[in-house]
Amino acid sequence: ESRDKLQTVNPATGEPGRSYEKHTIDDAYAAAKAAHEAYLQWRRTSFSERSNVIRKAAEILRARKDEFARLMTDEMGKTFDDGRAEVEKCAFHCDWFADNAEGYLANEPVDFGGEEAFVTFNPIGVVLAVMPWNFPFWQVFRFVAPALMAGNGALLKHASNVPGCALAIEEVLHQAGVPHDLFRTLLIGSGDVEALIKEDHIAAVTLTGSVGAGRSVATAAGSVLKKCVLELGGSDAYVILEDAEVVAAAKVAATARMVNGGQSCIAGKRFIVVRSILEPFEKALVDAMRTFEMGDPRKEGTKLGPMQSVHARDDIHKQVDGSIRNGARLLLGGKIPDRPGAWYPATVLTNVLPGQPAHDEEVFGPVAAIIAAEDEKDAIRIANASEFGLGSGVLTSDLDRGRRIAAEELEAGMSFVNENVRSDPRAPFGGVKHSGYGRECSAYGIREFVNIKTVHVK
Ligand code: NAP
Repeated sequence: ESRDKLQTVNPATGEPGRSYEKHTIDDAYAAAKAAHEAYLQWRRTSFSERSNVIRKAAEILRARKDEFARLMTDEMGKTFDDGRAEVEKCAFHCDWFADNAEGYLANEPVDFGGEEAFVTFNPIGVVLAVMPWNFPFWQVFRFVAPALMAGNGALLKHASNVPGCALAIEEVLHQAGVPHDLFRTLLIGSGDVEALIKEDHIAAVTLTGSVGAGRSVATAAGSVLKKCVLELGGSDAYVILEDAEVVAAAKVAATARMVNGGQSCIAGKRFIVVRSILEPFEKALVDAMRTFEMGDPRKEGTKLGPMQSVHARDDIHKQVDGSIRNGARLLLGGKIPDRPGAWYPATVLTNVLPGQPAHDEEVFGPVAAIIAAEDEKDAIRIANASEFGLGSGVLTSDLDRGRRIAAEELEAGMSFVNENVRSDPRAPFGGVKHSGYGRECSAYGIREFVNIKTVHVK
């Protein structure tokens, strides 16, 4: 019997790569049952046993860093340098949770006026993880290292264009000593996710991806009352105040925008500039964005590789075109190069206004949108007038002002002053509004998939 296949395509060339046999939904059900059995054993292991395994995973990641970076380049076009940095970050994250999970999940005493009471954190079972292609290793490790440290099992349904990465991650974890059935990669389509969420051995689900996928997953999880964490899209705003140092601000903006070729949920997407510095900022941003030249993603030093697919590139171009047709002015880029592959240049739009895709939608590519504001208050209003609320930034030379706006005014899960937003195992990561709910990383993240249990002894 022949099975459906997942066909990879090299986005830099348009040429087909390896293909992979898909799992059936019955394979997935069997894996869920087996993972649950494995979890019943794993939850009895000590933190130090789990730490040894997760630390070993970090070692393997570091040892095979170049190989995994190349795999990402081949499957989704990430530059080799970015791929290496991503694998390093996964290793750091594993070490962080190997060292800190026990502390994050230590019993907490409750003051019941003299009687013994405490909070304890029990694992909850097998968590289904539905993950995107843009950081094929990081998105998975961000979830899985704390999940396994907490005593849970996990099944991975990765994006359909990165099956090689999905299987490599499974191999790393198994080689590190994660029991075979406790973590499995399932090569299934998104059409099978709902049925799997409803399977009895799945305790909860986490999704990193688009708003549409989030809605489907939350609906399925809600119908069976299972917990879910959603890390969805973003259209991160950076407020650039009139007292900002323009060239430095433009560099932060360009760095924020160009993370992973612009294909990051926490890439800076809207640059809201107080009008008195609009012209010098436009010029400085064009200069900074121009340094991101397209090049072979396999070569060291390349700053901008291809988009993940020709289809995704065409969608980005449609958003740019639609914005220009509705009044935006093109300052840089904006043309599809005449060559095979999913290429799109660093692009800057100004005069971006409501009604334009660059204003209203998430643009998942190397396109910076400049929006003019009258003053601080107006800039904050525009920043918050978005369906999303993932990251945000403030650029100013007045740190008190920056701190206040970041802490009190911006509707976002993360807010950085004079710096581009980044994820880090030590700090909670997640969004508000349509950017999702729940948190990953830090104590907040590891406590999402546990039973926070009150114990009272009399
Ligand atoms: P996507 O289409 O939503 O895909 C993400 C994952 O969800 C893939 O595994 C996909 O499987 C699956 N999926 C898609 N539709 C589904 C459905 N209806 N039911 C169940 N699963 C479904 O996302 P994308 O467009 O590739 O990725 C980019 C999006 O992810 C952007 O919006 C970005 O901002 C967001 N993102 C968020 C974060 C964060 O931490 N907040 C991080 C990275 C990316 P298939 O590949 O098989 O379709």
